[in-house]
Formats: sequence, structure tokens, C-alpha cells
Amino acid sequence: MLKKSQRNLLMKHLIYLDNNSTTPVDPLIKQSYCSALDSWANPSSSHYLGRKARQALASSREIVAAALHVSSEEIIFTASATEAINLALQSLFSEVNTAAEVVYSSVEHPAVIETLQFLAKNRRCILRPLPVGKEGFVKVEALEKAVNDKTRLIITMAANNETGIKNDIAAIAALAERHTIPLMVDAVALFGKERFTMPKGVALLCISGHKFHGVVGAAALFIDKSLKLPPFILGGGQERGLRAGTENLPAIAALAQAVSMLDELLPAAQLHMEQLRNDFEEQLKERLCGFVAINGSESLRVVNTSNVLFKGMDGESLLYSLDRAGVAASLGSACSSGSLEPSPVLLNMGLTLQQASSSLRFSFSRMNSQEETARAIEIICREVERLTSV
Ligand code: PLP
Repeated sequence: MLKKSQRNLLMKHLIYLDNNSTTPVDPLIKQSYCSALDSWANPSSSHYLGRKARQALASSREIVAAALHVSSEEIIFTASATEAINLALQSLFSEVNTAAEVVYSSVEHPAVIETLQFLAKNRRCILRPLPVGKEGFVKVEALEKAVNDKTRLIITMAANNETGIKNDIAAIAALAERHTIPLMVDAVALFGKERFTMPKGVALLCISGHKFHGVVGAAALFIDKSLKLPPFILGGGQERGLRAGTENLPAIAALAQAVSMLDELLPAAQLHMEQLRNDFEEQLKERLCGFVAINGSESLRVVNTSNVLFKGMDGESLLYSLDRAGVAASLGSACSSGSLEPSPVLLNMGLTLQQASSSLRFSFSRMNSQEETARAIEIICREVERLTSV
């Protein structure tokens, strides 16, 4: 056990490489959050303070809508992307329908997979998972074969949160449009890390504020105006009647601030993250020659994510050692990291149980530095050597 003083010192020098689970709050975004706390009135109230809060909510919605090139009526704020996904899926499949099929990539986030399994169990849809193979992405030809006239929805993520592997959303959206099937895109692992233009043909899309330096508590769901969904949460009729409950204005304002900073920040931030990630991988491969492999490196990946296989090692032991030495990484998806199970995503890509259990995810943000990457490499190499020599 570390003493409190040692723990404090470690926290101060902690190298945070778990940005796909959540990101540190940007100081400017924190300012927006704090000043929105001063507009504490309920946006549904009709008095002056309520009207001010309503205006702030409307302008946040406009900012998010503009970034996605959609109209503000098509944006719904939720507390998390998990909630946005639940809203979309549970509303779309609110009735028993033993014919409606959902075609989705087999490596979707648990928010998608678990919700779909719940719906299927309740006879509201039939599941058609699409294998992604060792490349880790949806093959458009395979998707073309998987859809039919019973397909009610296609779901693909823009990028996978564990491997960073991207899907060709433009090609998938074109296919969905050709077949007039709604397409839902989970853009959480990509939006805010790379430039993203939502292609025509996307019917539903979600982003989450805390994944790009906003605060936890606000996400946005785009719902194409042609899609008419029944309410998900009943009550006072907020969010176009789909998601009742007083809006979390400070977190929403922070999300809008995070979005509004992207235009200016992202070109340099994207290059910065890519350089850090690439240097990190190059140095690891050089220093631990033959002992590491980068999962998914043959496919197109989002710039900030590295999934490293430490051959023959126990990933959990390495994760804990790194944590004690001051490097925060993750094993599998952060949302299920409490269980530390080998990643179903990696298993789906054909890795063995042993390989999946030996893989760790390192995810960078624009706030990481080259100096941190260099220190992380030193610590990782040291810990790998220590663990393999005992
Ligand atoms: N989708 C992806 C790809 C994610 O990585 C996550 C979170 O890790 C989610 C959805 C859920 O996001 P939230 O934490 O906002 O519920």
C-alpha cells in the first residue's frame, strides 16, 4: 500500500492515458460550466430568469446542431451517450415486433449491445450481428448482404473505443440511404478527436461531452426529422417530449463550449494526438522488440487510440503495476472495467483469450505532452521487464 504522501506525489505526476473513458475538463469549458451554474433557473419557467436559461439552452443546441450541419430541432440533450442510445433504440423498438431486424457491428459499445439484447429478449426486434473479422471494421459488401426488407435499423460506430478502428461511415450511410433503412451512428469515440462531417443517410447519431474535455452529464443525440419517435421518458415534455426532466444546463453549456472550440483547436490537436500515439507505438515496438504488437494497426484508426498486445503477459497485473507507477491505462472498455473481463471486441476480432487478456488500451488527448509519452514509455518498459523477470 502506498502512503498518502506517496499517493499525492503520484497523482501530481500521473500520466493519464485513459482518455477514451473520460477526458480532463478543459479550463475554458470549466469556466462555461461554472458561469452556467449562475443561470440556475429552470429553462421551462416563464419568468425572466427562466427565459434567460431557455435562451442559453437554445444557443447550446444551435452550436451542437451547427457542428453537425443539422437543424437545432433535430438535437436532443441527454445525460450520457448511453442514455441517448437507449432513447433511440428503446423508442424505435417500443412495440413487440417479431419481424423487425437490426443489423449491427459485433463490436459496438455495451450501451448498444446490452440495449439490443434487452429488446430482443422482449420480442421487440431480431438481432443480426455483423462480424468484423480481424480487421475490426464493417465490410460494406457484407453489410449489403446482411440487409433485407425486414431490416429496420443499421447500427455502426464511427470508431471503436477500444481499438480506435474506424468504419467507413460515408459508404455505410450511402448503402443505408439506397436501401431506405435508418442508420444509427455511435460517434462517441471519434467526435472531438478528428474532424467529422456527418454524411447524408445518417438518421441517428450520438456524441458525449466528457469524451472531449466537457463535463460528465451531457450528451447529444441527433434524430433526423423524418424519424418520428415515441417518448422515452415521460413527464414535463422537455426535449421535444422525448426525454422529460429539467435540463442539466451547466453540463449542456459545457458540451456546447467543447463543441464550439473544435473548429479552431482540432486541426492542430488531431495532428498532436496522432504524433503522440505514433511515437508511442514506434518506441514501444523498438524497445520491446518482438514482445508487443499493436491490435488493429493494419486498419484505419482514430488518431488517439493505441491497443497494445504484450505477448504472454497478464494484462491485469501490468495494468495495476502501471497504475502504481503513475500511468493510467485500461483493459477493455472503461464502462465495464470494474469486471476486468478480456475484451469482447478483441475476441470478436479473432484474438485468443490469452491475447485479449494481454492487451491494454492507451488513449491520448490534446492535453498529453511528448514529455509524458516519453516517461510513459520508460515506465511501461521498466514494469514489463520487472514483471517478466519474476
Ligand atoms: N459509445 C462509445 C463508443 C463509448 O466509448 C462510450 C463510453 O465509453 C459510450 C458510447 C457511452 O458514453 P457515456 O459515457 O456518455 O454514456
